[in-house]
Amino acid sequence: MTKTSIPDHYRRDPDKKPHEPGYFTAAQGREVDPAVLDRVLSRATALGPRGLVIFDLDSTLLNNKPRQARIVREAGQALDDPRLLHSMAEHFTDWSVEKPLRKLGISDDEIPTLVPKVRRFWKQRFFTSEYCQDDLAIAGAVRYVHDVLATGSRVVYCTGRHEGMRAGTVTCFAREGFPVPDDDRVHLMMKPDLQEHDDDFKVRARAPLAALGLVVAAFDNEPIHINSYFEHFHDAQCVHMLTDDSARGIAPHPQIPSIRDFNRIGS
Ligand SMILES: [Mg+2]
Repeated sequence: MTKTSIPDHYRRDPDKKPHEPGYFTAAQGREVDPAVLDRVLSRATALGPRGLVIFDLDSTLLNNKPRQARIVREAGQALDDPRLLHSMAEHFTDWSVEKPLRKLGISDDEIPTLVPKVRRFWKQRFFTSEYCQDDLAIAGAVRYVHDVLATGSRVVYCTGRHEGMRAGTVTCFAREGFPVPDDDRVHLMMKPDLQEHDDDFKVRARAPLAALGLVVAAFDNEPIHINSYFEHFHDAQCVHMLTDDSARGIAPHPQIPSIRDFNRIGS
């Protein structure tokens, strides 16, 4: 594995502690509005081939907790700590490494030394093609992306993942049943490299997105990203994914509805 410096794009408030409510999302407790999924399909149908629906990947279409659990298991092998070999996706409720370690029986005394070691191991693997293949579709997501395509509108996966993760991402799409990119009706927009900040990329992506068509809707779990789409694409239906986020204390705009998954009411 090549050694590159991995930027910490999402530095957290040092005064907050992981066990405090709201540490991992400022959107906690928001109402959800699953009916927005049908409204998006109606708008996509009206626009047809001119329309474009944008989907983020991590914590929007894909659950990356299986990837995180695998990394912790492998850290257990590397650090010769058999307790970590029992790491499972269900242990991860957000971006905390500390919480899943506690569920594996790691004591208060061990946390301060073990967490940085596992974190380092995690950062060297999480942003790679090899590991992102493990991700699983969020409930209802595969069917919903196909439903969007069936309206005639196009799909753009616009993600903070970098190009080095393209192969693993497409492998994961194919295995999970998502439409795979064909640069015609399905596009995958990624950062050119890992170093670029996701926030900058999502702003920079607005121009190529607008060049592809009229944005019908955008789905993203990161409040700052969905707020950015909301402010820029005035006619788009922006939808916030109430899964987890980078915990920078930013709330989604009050006019942006949230959903937890892509299960449509009555389907
Ligand atoms: Mg995301």
